[in-house]
Amino acid sequence: VLTMAAHRKNHSGDFIVLSEARQNNLKGVDLRIPKGKLTVFTGVSGSGKSSVVFDTLAIESQRQLNETLPAFVRHRMPKYERPDAGVMENLSTAIVVDQRQVGGNARSTVGTMTEILPMLRVLFSRAGTPSAGPSHMYSPNDPRGMCEECQGLGTTVRLELDKLLDEDKSLNEGAIRFPSFAVGTFQWQLYGESGLFDPDKRLRDFSAKDRELLLHGKGFTVDRAGRNGVYKNEYEGVVERFTRRYITPGLDHAKSKERAEIERVVTQGPCPVCHGGRLNKAALASRIDGDNIADFSAMEITDLIERLARIDAPAVKPVVAGARAALERIQAVGLGYLSLGRQTRTLSGGEAQRLKMVRHLGSSLTGLTYIFDEPSVGLHPRDVRRMNDILLALRDKGNTVLVVEHDRDVIAIADHVVDMGPGAGRDGGEVTFEGTPAGLRRSGTVTGKQLRSVTGLKEEVRSPTGELTVRAAKLHNLRDVTVGFPTGVLTAVTGVAGSGKSTLVSKVFTAQYPDAVVIDQSSVGISARSNPATYTDIMGSLRQRFARASGEKPGLFSFNSEGACPQCGGKGVIETDLAFMDPVTTVCEACDGRRFNDEALRHTVGGRTVVDVLAMTAEEASDFFDDAPVRRKLALLTEVGLGYLTLGQPLSTLSGGERQRLKLAHRLKETGTVYVFDEPTTGLHMSDTRRLLDLFDRLVDGGNTVLVIEHDLDVVKHADWVVDLGPEAGSQGGRVVFEGTPAELARAKGSHTGRSLAADLR
Ligand code: ADP
Ligand code: ADP
Ligand code: ZN
Ligand code: ZN
Repeated sequence: VLTMAAHRKNHSGDFIVLSEARQNNLKGVDLRIPKGKLTVFTGVSGSGKSSVVFDTLAIESQRQLNETLPAFVRHRMPKYERPDAGVMENLSTAIVVDQRQVGGNARSTVGTMTEILPMLRVLFSRAGTPSAGPSHMYSPNDPRGMCEECQGLGTTVRLELDKLLDEDKSLNEGAIRFPSFAVGTFQWQLYGESGLFDPDKRLRDFSAKDRELLLHGKGFTVDRAGRNGVYKNEYEGVVERFTRRYITPGLDHAKSKERAEIERVVTQGPCPVCHGGRLNKAALASRIDGDNIADFSAMEITDLIERLARIDAPAVKPVVAGARAALERIQAVGLGYLSLGRQTRTLSGGEAQRLKMVRHLGSSLTGLTYIFDEPSVGLHPRDVRRMNDILLALRDKGNTVLVVEHDRDVIAIADHVVDMGPGAGRDGGEVTFEGTPAGLRRSGTVTGKQLRSVTGLKEEVRSPTGELTVRAAKLHNLRDVTVGFPTGVLTAVTGVAGSGKSTLVSKVFTAQYPDAVVIDQSSVGISARSNPATYTDIMGSLRQRFARASGEKPGLFSFNSEGACPQCGGKGVIETDLAFMDPVTTVCEACDGRRFNDEALRHTVGGRTVVDVLAMTAEEASDFFDDAPVRRKLALLTEVGLGYLTLGQPLSTLSGGERQRLKLAHRLKETGTVYVFDEPTTGLHMSDTRRLLDLFDRLVDGGNTVLVIEHDLDVVKHADWVVDLGPEAGSQGGRVVFEGTPAELARAKGSHTGRSLAADLR
């Protein structure tokens, strides 16, 4: 047995072997990654970490897995392209736990996603009195259990007439304020041209009878002039028509743009029948020591664990134990402040990732490769240790754990570190260091240097020019918070995850000061058709330039117009939609991913086709363009650290951090502005964080105000002012526990951030 083990040790089976990897920016990367260990990938953003881990290893693992399937099944599966690499060996099944948000569906909750809710249903069917029957009677997603009024959603949507109608306008002036009822539309004709009403009369002057007819009339037909004659239409009042078309199907069914329009004219509130409990009377009447299943779902997980501990009926011991174990895992990743009833679509990316992580912890599978994308996102330094324990637990169960991460405390627990670099994009793509965390710290790489350098507090903080006050904020967990945010300085808003930072800043502050420019990671539209050139509208200048040179129309040089490859319609890829899975994309064979047709590519400027220009990085392109506005835009991209992006790179391939900086570059032109950033260091290497801080300094010194929600202590140290929320998360948080300078924070009692900062400065 011993010799076998010794033999295995030297055998390459103990390593994932990768050679000659050239995916994206990789320059022939060779790696041996120890199996059954925790490996952390470091390096500046854009250096190629994701290209190794996600675009090469994870894709290849998925592809190899598919090859093992019988031909007739494989035929129906997505076709994965083989990543660009020589050898890829000893991969095991890879599970990617990323920050993609979960569940656009209103029925998807923390309880359903973690499969804890079904356990509670079993619990109530056995121990609730009176029992409502078997366990599906407690399911809001089952017709037998759901509240009929709200169909198990817990909320109802009410049309707000004063928002839908403009009383000071006539039908002809567009009194019905909804795009699909705009003057001239088919739906408008039903009212404006029905002959029932004076279309030039202001609504406020309508008689009671006419108003009733307009809003609720029914049971007769009206004539409507169509293109080919007169049609008879069943008349239906505006309220019924609107409700039937836009409310009854459920807001989830509306496209996002339409949904926003609908949300403008409705209010959503708790269901008047079940009061948010989502279940019917029988299910809600069933209680355990006074609480029903809706009460259990509404409790914070930390409290629910205690509540379950008080149940001691022998018949339900196993299910209680199972539920408690699962809940404790959620608590362990720092999410004890969530409730099981919380809709998954309201979770942040970091919260979603940690919940997904929890799901895998409960499984007994071993021998897998787990891949994490910056799991420390959204975590306060205090909670990183607990998350580290989870990564180690996954490893100790016999799995290989690969983590892309910038956080020093996570890097420190790695068995093995792979540092990518030296730069970003074309200047990266190489392995600059491989070994232990201690070795990395001694190394000469950018990461090594950053790990060695410790920054202290700023010598001097700026003085505010004024103050923006948030008054009596009570949203979510906020406890009637009134707090001032100084202007003309850099303010960090800190606190453990769930303490209320986003609620206070991204929701309440921005609602009270709507002129603030919010720069978060989500708000860049990311279709496969957008890229840095289209986003910043450099594409427009590019098209003009080619049009002038060639005498053709600008549209020929757009892949969204006449220039599009006919096969893929200008997408460069063919998308295959699969039920229950993420859609799969393959490179278009007709244009080889170039998006353009041959006609467009016949023309060149300065020896370059439009595709060649889109393949240039922002930095390179500044020599190509001669008009000042475009050069300014390109310079801004470089200024925010995105000079390495090519103009044509689809925005869908950008990381959250890159997307955020792109948005920043696009909006930087505004001056005298309040900027709000939500965790801007996400995806940023320590050296990128430095650059971001320089940028903040430039913004503030240029007369702007910057507010940053942040955990990164380097940002906190650099701030002029700190507002710390807490003391804990959820119902235990929601108060301002500290306001002052970073130096004062380091001495503050009762603040987790203060304690972490003091420890860091030591
Ligand atoms: P990191 O994970 O270190 O931030 P990435 O591996 O995501 O870096 O990116 C390395 C380089 O490859 C960057 O220049 C990035 O913009 C580029 N890149 C990433 N994905 C794609 C893609 N799908 N197509 C083209 N370029 C890409
Ligand atoms: P932080 O930004 O400090 O991590 P949040 O502001 O996201 O904290 O959350 C503060 C509290 O508000 C938490 O208890 C969280 O669960 C709750 N919360 C946040 N967003 C929502 C939402 N959309 N619906 C219900 N509760 C929410
Ligand atoms: Zn209801
Ligand atoms: Zn094509």
